[in-house]
Amino acid sequence: MGYIIENITVITWDDDRLKVLENATVETDGDRISRVGCGKNDAARRSGKIRIDGTGKALIPGLVNAHTHIPMTLLRSYADDLALHTWLFDHIFKIEDKLTDDDVYWGSQLGLMEMLAGGTTCFADMYYFVDRIAEAAAESGMRALLSRGLTNNEDKDDYSDDYRIKEAVETFRRWNGAENNRIRVAFAPHAIYTCAPKYIKAIRDTAEKLGAVIHVHVDETLKEHNNSLNQYGKTPTQHLYDLGLFDLPAIAAHCVHVTDTDMDLMMEKSVSFIHNPTSNLKLGSGIAPVPDALKKGINVALGTDGASSNNNLNMWEEINLAALIHKGARQDPLAVRAEEAFRMATANGARALGFNNTGQIREGFSADMVLIDLSKPHYLPEHNIVSNLAYSAQASDVETVFVDGRILYDKGEFKTLDREKILYNIKRVCERLFS
Ligand SMILES: [Zn+2]
Repeated sequence: MGYIIENITVITWDDDRLKVLENATVETDGDRISRVGCGKNDAARRSGKIRIDGTGKALIPGLVNAHTHIPMTLLRSYADDLALHTWLFDHIFKIEDKLTDDDVYWGSQLGLMEMLAGGTTCFADMYYFVDRIAEAAAESGMRALLSRGLTNNEDKDDYSDDYRIKEAVETFRRWNGAENNRIRVAFAPHAIYTCAPKYIKAIRDTAEKLGAVIHVHVDETLKEHNNSLNQYGKTPTQHLYDLGLFDLPAIAAHCVHVTDTDMDLMMEKSVSFIHNPTSNLKLGSGIAPVPDALKKGINVALGTDGASSNNNLNMWEEINLAALIHKGARQDPLAVRAEEAFRMATANGARALGFNNTGQIREGFSADMVLIDLSKPHYLPEHNIVSNLAYSAQASDVETVFVDGRILYDKGEFKTLDREKILYNIKRVCERLFS
């Protein structure tokens, strides 16, 4: 089983080099891309593969949302326009205390539907009731790095009875590598202000034993940064580095207030820098030093963060903002180029999440791909397709989404998710939660 997409414009990466192929043919075989080339392949055409005419369309690698909390779709537009600490402690945590695993399951389904329709094929999540998120992700057919957000400010020498870590270990055993390795499980100390140092060390040691990667919030606000200096005499990044957390492969969300030295540490330990421009702007957290991180060679990827601090899971907005805000903030139109923003959302994201052989349209890679309809007025004329994608594209231009060689979304139709059922259940769970 496979597809042949003909007459297509392919925009992809050859490792770090941008590659644009006109009138190309892309073939898939099972979950893999088996051929990327020019000209027709008559043998393949006779093989019974399904042919798709790509005239007037672009094929790009699936977008990677490298930091989100999908069930937070349930909290969309609830408690907006507040400072991060007030928003989180006075509002979000109060509703989250009432969440059941059923709520989380349906909130996840809603988020998955939104992401798929916008061309996101892969995401990194941090939340709780992760088994239900994994169940939803598995049903959707999407690729995911899931984690149980771990919080405990109690200073102890032994955390072997910590129910959160126990849950995380169980989730890891149950789901890591499941669904043709589309689902993997990370360990997630939530942040330095919600985790005692020894707790972070305990999480780190558990993750190391299991061979898991780390997902953590780092230096999101100036308040977190200054509290860390007062409490530990060092920056959040230095604190986590000294605890050995970055000895494991890690994704660090936000990094808004990281210093030059912090970025050297991130580079030394190959920590991926996850830029969440919308969330940082909405919560008034600041603008992350992305141009400096890029200059240092740090792997920068993009995330939406949860829907309550964004308020959507639309990666096109993140690409657009990542390409724009640094130019404005630094009064430098070269600060982040369109191509760099596009790479953050594709190849860099796949690399950050550790899904090797995804994030590029390339022979032997996973067939995670998105067809974009270029016939819309905002794509014409086509002087520079990458500029058009970064500055002009809309999530609604996404026509077809493949993950692992399977079509999950096509022209408004979800192949694996039940739209009506999801909308009905969202209404039902929200009535209880917000009554
Ligand atoms: Zn977050």
